Amino acid sequence: MVDLVGQYQDIKEEVQEAFSEILESAAFINGPRVKAFQQALEEYLGVAHVIPCANGTDALQIAMMGLGLKPGDEVITADFTFAATVEVIGLLGLTPVLVDVRPDTFNIDPEAVEKAITPKTKAIVPIHLFGQCAEMEAILEIAEKHNLYVIEDNAQAIGANYKFADGSLKKAGTLGHVGATSFFPSKNLGAYGDGGAIFTDDAELAHTLRGIVNHGMYERYYHDVIGVNSRLDSLQAAVLQAKLPLLDGYCEKRRNAARAYNRALADHPEITTPVTMRGCAGICDTCDCHVFHQYTLKIANGKRDGLAAHLAEQGIPHGIYYPVPLHRQKAYADPRYNEADFPVTNSLSEEVISLPMHTELDQEQLDFICKTILQYLG
Ligand SMILES: *Cc1c(COP(=O)(O)O)cnc(C)c1O
Repeated sequence: MVDLVGQYQDIKEEVQEAFSEILESAAFINGPRVKAFQQALEEYLGVAHVIPCANGTDALQIAMMGLGLKPGDEVITADFTFAATVEVIGLLGLTPVLVDVRPDTFNIDPEAVEKAITPKTKAIVPIHLFGQCAEMEAILEIAEKHNLYVIEDNAQAIGANYKFADGSLKKAGTLGHVGATSFFPSKNLGAYGDGGAIFTDDAELAHTLRGIVNHGMYERYYHDVIGVNSRLDSLQAAVLQAKLPLLDGYCEKRRNAARAYNRALADHPEITTPVTMRGCAGICDTCDCHVFHQYTLKIANGKRDGLAAHLAEQGIPHGIYYPVPLHRQKAYADPRYNEADFPVTNSLSEEVISLPMHTELDQEQLDFICKTILQYLG
């Protein structure tokens, strides 16, 4: 699904030099590299504060802690996402409220969000799934109207832009009150181990978050709040520092692969290729609104599983993200949920298939993958 070796070749010298400097200086935690990466990311995103942490799941949890969400508060998020999003809501004793997604973009449905709001609702967590922003303009409007926080799960869309109706652009993860991302190796900006970060323009919240990531300490050995231990280490920061200037190029390579898949597959009646949002009908050459963490097709007429088996036989990796809607998972089932409220997630879980997507795909590989798919579907 991903080839991470090619990227390493381009940054090998820089990373090895940085690693040896870190090993010689033994500044493994909170060294100058972490600060340098933090500042570079603030500049890239156009956000006032980046708070590095240990992974994307922690980033989401710490964001919710920093906003002061309390047990009993309801947090609305999508039924169709990686479990980490809803896991941390449950872990903090908050009440997850899962809602359906849009059939075209796979992202949280703003109408379903609005319908799910109760007097206990405190926050909305849109996920920018597969590399494309949720409908943030609508979500921000709903949040303002009902006085809710917006926490963006940006684990899959770092580098993506969101285009507002007036044409202005903002980076994914910087649109809500707080954004959370992951630097897991296979993410679009991946470290060589775990890593994550939280983004916000709110200076007071940033201060709170910086304490929470470090045992609730604002002054050494004075613990003002209950925190966690969640740090980005210097080795990972050095990798990320080397990769960040290349991120836009990585995203463009992913878009190029997506364009090639689209060209080959879009006309088949049983295939739905990914839909991109406003201003990006098709994937235009200048558009940078979708960064294709995943390239995900919908396969009609119950043929998805057969296609998956056929790809496996042909040695082509693929993924089913996600095979079970969260409301049907044992850990997150809740008698309040009604199957009739999740028609889209339920059908997506039977129709979606993600193809190999990374920065090293060449035309020959893309041709072989597309040919194999079309041969199977006939
Ligand atoms: C990867 C991912 C996470 C969690 O990130 P980790 O760094 O693996 O903890 C959270 N949400 C989504 C949507 C993800 O894809």
